[in-house]
Amino acid sequence: MRAIPILIVDDRPENLLVLEQVLESPELIIVRANSGHEALEKTLDHEFALILLDVQMPVMDGYETAALLRGNKRTKNIPIIFVTAATKERSQVFRGYGSGAVDYLFKPLETGVLKSKVKIFLELYHQRRLLEEKTRELDAKVMELETLQSKLEESNEKLRQLSSLDGLTDIPNRRFFDETMTREWQRGTRRQKPLSLILADIDHFKAFNDAYGHVIGDDCLKRVAKGLGKSILRDVDTIARYGGEEFAAILPETDETGAVLIIQRMLESIKGLEINHKASPTADHVTVSFGLSTMVPNTDLSPTQLIESADRALYLAKNSGRNTYTIS
Ligand code: GH3
Ligand code: MG
Ligand code: MG
Repeated sequence: MRAIPILIVDDRPENLLVLEQVLESPELIIVRANSGHEALEKTLDHEFALILLDVQMPVMDGYETAALLRGNKRTKNIPIIFVTAATKERSQVFRGYGSGAVDYLFKPLETGVLKSKVKIFLELYHQRRLLEEKTRELDAKVMELETLQSKLEESNEKLRQLSSLDGLTDIPNRRFFDETMTREWQRGTRRQKPLSLILADIDHFKAFNDAYGHVIGDDCLKRVAKGLGKSILRDVDTIARYGGEEFAAILPETDETGAVLIIQRMLESIKGLEINHKASPTADHVTVSFGLSTMVPNTDLSPTQLIESADRALYLAKNSGRNTYTIS
């Protein structure tokens, strides 16, 4: 452990000598001052753990010295023990406390009392140091945690960006659909080429779930997703899971005629799956209805209009018997 500096202040060298002899210990650096002024000077060179301050001194007495120490940011927290020959009159004691004293020692000094008081202050000093150190360690840990936290958020964001696939069907999810729509709309606007959107919705799927259970329902969704995916052939086309049992195909640079061909392939593909649906009023196997809308994107319109338009067409397909398509 590093030696601790303490300051002893007395105008009489023989008193300083006595104090020094009593306190002498390898764990202390005892610094002497002969006057209040010298005491203040010494505080510039050391960070004292304790000051033993004689009260009766010429020029500047112990109380004045203490008041100046209290007035300085660097020294105001150093504990002071006043050493006084004065009577133990209450007013005297009080004066000392008023100027920030923490304790008193009376002359003639009793060695035992002096030692035990100094010991207590040194223990307090050690504890404060320890606390300061722990606080610094905690601050460092908090900073480390904050760094980790922001790294975690970063990687979560990356994960979110990576997860453009639907967990169940393994085809692009709604997020990816939305992004693709925006992108293709902008591209269509620049190139002035038609953009087609197909919305597909499984017929009587609630009844399917009710009849076969959710697990088989999920399996049906996967197979339908695959069947629809097989029907689009170009790289630029996107088939996504739009909602629960709804799918959407974005077909850039595809006019209505081209999109209808794809819907017809989709109808065939779903039929070929031959997924039994005993509860369907439409057919004895799972069927899908389609709504198509084609637009040449421009800045006066937005992807929302294309989606709404395809959705209206899908609604009409449902109303005209299902297992079919309608063009908006
Ligand atoms: P319609 O022919 O008019 O489309 O009738 P529908 O029953 O298919 O339509 P509705 O919107 O009434 O019901 C959709 C059903 O799809 C209800 C819901 O339980 C089911 N569903 C949605 N998401 C999932 C899913 O992830 N797994 C399963 N198993 N079922 C789902
Ligand atoms: Mg639906
Ligand atoms: Mg449905």
